[in-house]
Amino acid sequence: MNVLLLGSGGREHALAWALSASPLLTKLFCAPGNAGIAEVAQCIPIDPGDQARIIQFCRDERIELVVIGPEAPLVAGLGDALAEAGIRYFGPSKSAAQLEGSKGFTKDLCRAAGIPTAAYGRFSDAQSAKTYLASQSQPIVVKADGLAAGKGVIIAATREEAEAAVDACFSGSFGSAGAELVIEEFLHGEEASFFALCDGTTALALATAQDHKRVGDGDTGLNTGGMGAYSPAPIVTPEMHDRVMREIIEPTVKEMAARGMPFKGVLFAGLMITATGPKLIEYNVRFGDPETQVLMMRLRSDLLAALLATTDGVLANFDLRWSDDAALTVVMAANGYPGTPQKGTEIKGLDQARAVPNVEIFHAGTRRDGGRLIADGGRVLNVTGRGKTIAEARDAAYAAVAKIDWPGGFYRKDIGWRALQRTET
Ligand code: AMP
Repeated sequence: MNVLLLGSGGREHALAWALSASPLLTKLFCAPGNAGIAEVAQCIPIDPGDQARIIQFCRDERIELVVIGPEAPLVAGLGDALAEAGIRYFGPSKSAAQLEGSKGFTKDLCRAAGIPTAAYGRFSDAQSAKTYLASQSQPIVVKADGLAAGKGVIIAATREEAEAAVDACFSGSFGSAGAELVIEEFLHGEEASFFALCDGTTALALATAQDHKRVGDGDTGLNTGGMGAYSPAPIVTPEMHDRVMREIIEPTVKEMAARGMPFKGVLFAGLMITATGPKLIEYNVRFGDPETQVLMMRLRSDLLAALLATTDGVLANFDLRWSDDAALTVVMAANGYPGTPQKGTEIKGLDQARAVPNVEIFHAGTRRDGGRLIADGGRVLNVTGRGKTIAEARDAAYAAVAKIDWPGGFYRKDIGWRALQRTET
């Protein structure tokens, strides 16, 4: 089977790495890919937003499955265009992708289905948003409704900050994503990432994971796309896992089906584990980055078979096997990230790093320039270790990080600290 994977990050490298091991695979293509992905797939210079060229490529190369990595093409309706062209794809339709494309849509769905989430209001003008703010306590969270590349969430410590966020939103700081906004209660607790394959009616949970969103050690500084992750997440106990499935994932799948927009693909719930139980912070409609890197390290089943079972609606008869090992990934980012990352610096020592036992290095933003490996993005490498415990996985990952000679980049030194604290005490 010929497969086309769309995307160019560490998530896609991890997916490509797992897909390339499938006995069902004939040839893997990736558009546009990166220098690491090029080692396991043929990279082609097509923009994942270019629907017409993707469809033409699928016809020319007899692609039997398109796996859509990032959210933007899904929210823009690439799935619907592929379906119309008779091409099988993994991911939700445009209407089902609203779970990520519109925060207001998801909040209303939670209300309708009784799914635990932060109390909220939806607004399309500044005056009514500010009137609502006057009746709320702080901190409070202001969110642009649409896709804002991870930047549309403001946690306001004071009413003034919240009002400034409302004004920023409606004055176009987040483009069309900010034409509407959601204001919601600030939730206290520990965050976890929860993934489930969904075929429209059945949901099959993946292993648990947690990531580190802040740029600095001790979870301080600016928010990022994720500076590291690990799996399993000790906070998601078997009991918590059951509650998440029963109270959040399953009612979502049921409600989406009832609305005539069955969710197919991978549902990624950002959770807050509060004192009273799990609450949904947000949904994403694709694999997480960098959580996918640690999940793929632990997946023992054939990923391609799992994606096909999801797409074909037969998850009820499917199961996934996971390694008992833990995995942990350290993101190496270019200096300047998450502001303006410095591109074009050379990375050396990757072969020595790769030789460290129990390590895989996924590329997130790299390109080749002759024999040289060049940083070409904000998040650049995901150095991923495996071990019997999270501590062992961490030691493997950091042993490999130490071999990488890249003055143009930096990384956090404390990935996994929460899990380690939990498991070591
Ligand atoms: P989101 O893009 O909705 O995942 O928000 C980005 C980050 O903001 C989340 O990962 C949380 O750390 C934080 N956040 C969002 N909503 C809330 C909330 N209601 N309470 C506390 N933190 C939140």
